[in-house]
Amino acid sequence: MRWIGRCRWVLLSAILLVAPASSLCRSQTAGQGAKSTAANSARPQDAYTLPPAELSKAVSLDRIRDALDFGGSLWNITFLWILLDTGAIAGIEQWTLRVTRRRWLQGLTFFASFLIAVFLAGMPIDWFAQYASRSYGISVQSWTSWLSDEGTSLCLTLLIGVPLLMLFLRIVRRWPRRFWLVAWLVTLPLMAIAVIAEPLVIDPLFNKFEPLEKTDHALVQQLEKVVHRTGINIPPGRMYLMKASAKTNGINAYVTGIGPTKRIVVWDTTADRIPTDQILFIFGHECGHYVLHHIPKGLAISAVCVFFGFWICAAVAVWLLRRRGRRWQIDSLSSPAGFVILLLMLSITGFLFEPAANAVSRHFEHQADIFGQEAIHGIVRNPQKTAVAAFNALGRIWLENPHPNSFVVFWLYNHPSIQQRANFAAHYDPWANGGHGKYFKN
Ligand SMILES: [Zn+2]
Repeated sequence: MRWIGRCRWVLLSAILLVAPASSLCRSQTAGQGAKSTAANSARPQDAYTLPPAELSKAVSLDRIRDALDFGGSLWNITFLWILLDTGAIAGIEQWTLRVTRRRWLQGLTFFASFLIAVFLAGMPIDWFAQYASRSYGISVQSWTSWLSDEGTSLCLTLLIGVPLLMLFLRIVRRWPRRFWLVAWLVTLPLMAIAVIAEPLVIDPLFNKFEPLEKTDHALVQQLEKVVHRTGINIPPGRMYLMKASAKTNGINAYVTGIGPTKRIVVWDTTADRIPTDQILFIFGHECGHYVLHHIPKGLAISAVCVFFGFWICAAVAVWLLRRRGRRWQIDSLSSPAGFVILLLMLSITGFLFEPAANAVSRHFEHQADIFGQEAIHGIVRNPQKTAVAAFNALGRIWLENPHPNSFVVFWLYNHPSIQQRANFAAHYDPWANGGHGKYFKN
């Protein structure tokens, strides 16, 4: 998983409603805002602190991130409701019936129009996220490059989203009672394909990648020490450097892909701007995800969640159709317009499932933090200090609020807060008194 940033596990809602990705990379914060100066001043036990000028910036950026995250999800749901309630969805369907008589072409026109509308509705939020990110000195991406990324996202949304929605509509028509079960069975391989294909097909469309060995042989040699200690086989060919500096000042590293495409990616900003010891810790954390099989485990958990999610969506959509169908001019879920009721339910369910998915993610991230600290034991002089310094660098660069609101952490954070991570790292010393770590025998 990403060292920082939104969880990348593929839920079907993400596949279907490929929402424009926020360019304001949310790290693991969100915050309570500067309600009182005292509340934001450092406590003696805090391992993560910011100088006053950066603290006030972090607190105000935190508010913006919260508003964008909650606002973005709620706006997406509201927009779908408006489309249904104003009769716009029924109107688009009527229009496609007039345009062509071929059923597949009607579906194609309908879903392309629908996805473009959803994409355009999300664009102001995306624009503001990018504007805020630039204002706070995190993003350095030009507006031209940002617009080009938005265009690429829209093309991907159409290329992947339209055939998928047509496939799922077909399933609803063919199995009007048990469609949610068939849809779930079809979703399982799609989720695996998405995780395999992402590093090969999607990621290179937005960023440049190079084998890490080609650009930083000395760093690879250091990383090999951690690889050797973990006892796993990550050949240098699976380590990549991402040219993030063209778009951001942020630092990051992550594990992505599965099976033949599994790899570790380090942003060039990370490699250039923090000391090697700290990079080794971040790398050790990523190795933790690799060794502890967090991607396949995440996929398995997602599969269970999607099963119940689809079941609930189908049941509530049938009820909603009975209650509102006449007003929305929709008489069946198996029409393209009726299918949008299912998509609305999917958006709502996805939003409500977020705290559960993030709780699992935070657990995995905590395990990876422990693994990372143990992985560099004996390689760096002081694992505790190194980890705390890495968290401070991470927090300062991303302007993380040292004291985020606990409700926001519960709902939105896919990592524990930087403060929690730094505090844990500062006191984690299993080797004291001759002990050993959780994942390593020495
Ligand atoms: Zn992680």
